[in-house]
Amino acid sequence: MKVKSAEFKKGIVGTDRILFDGKPQFAFIGRSNVGKSSVINSLVNQKNLVKVGKKPGKTTEINFFLINNQFYLVDLPGYGYAKVSPEKKEKIRNLILWYITDPEIRPKKIVLILDVKAGLTAFDEETIELLRDRGHDYIIVANKADKLNKKDLAEQLEQIKNGSHEENIVIHSATTKLGANDLANRLFN
Ligand code: GDP
Repeated sequence: MKVKSAEFKKGIVGTDRILFDGKPQFAFIGRSNVGKSSVINSLVNQKNLVKVGKKPGKTTEINFFLINNQFYLVDLPGYGYAKVSPEKKEKIRNLILWYITDPEIRPKKIVLILDVKAGLTAFDEETIELLRDRGHDYIIVANKADKLNKKDLAEQLEQIKNGSHEENIVIHSATTKLGANDLANRLFN
């Protein structure tokens, strides 16, 4: 995919007309620090469309980025950062659950990003179950693959496959671009 334009449109915290304007949505979900911002930037060949390494847990909005005036990359807030207040955690959790369970919101694809070294959290497992339940077209991405050697990578992948009941995991590194083409093809083709 050739990216001609990429711009931040808006952040939402509840229902909004942007959800229903007819442009396809590609949504990204992941725990804080898994590299979600880096994966999105890598996909659209931008250095800083989404700010990398921002203070974890800061964003409690769902951010819409318009690409080529055609579709949205939808960045859901990162969850699971320990230092965030319980209220904020609840708010983030509810926002994600709302986006993936509201029957009127139908993203074209949802990408769930994991840090392959850290593996699945309970909320990741819950999310995957809901994605399956609600009939979403989703992709699980094991990011930061560059951090593990071959043997550890294989072990972690096995655990992730068992925990998610999913065979098809995209092995990815935003740093080395491993798996970047694979992910782009699965998303946009
Ligand atoms: P987010 O909180 O999920 O949006 O994560 P960020 O994209 O901000 O990345 C968190 C940290 O992980 C940053 O320091 C990134 O440079 C780093 N990072 C992201 N992806 C990778 C990767 O594939 N490999 C490695 N080694 N580091 C990564």
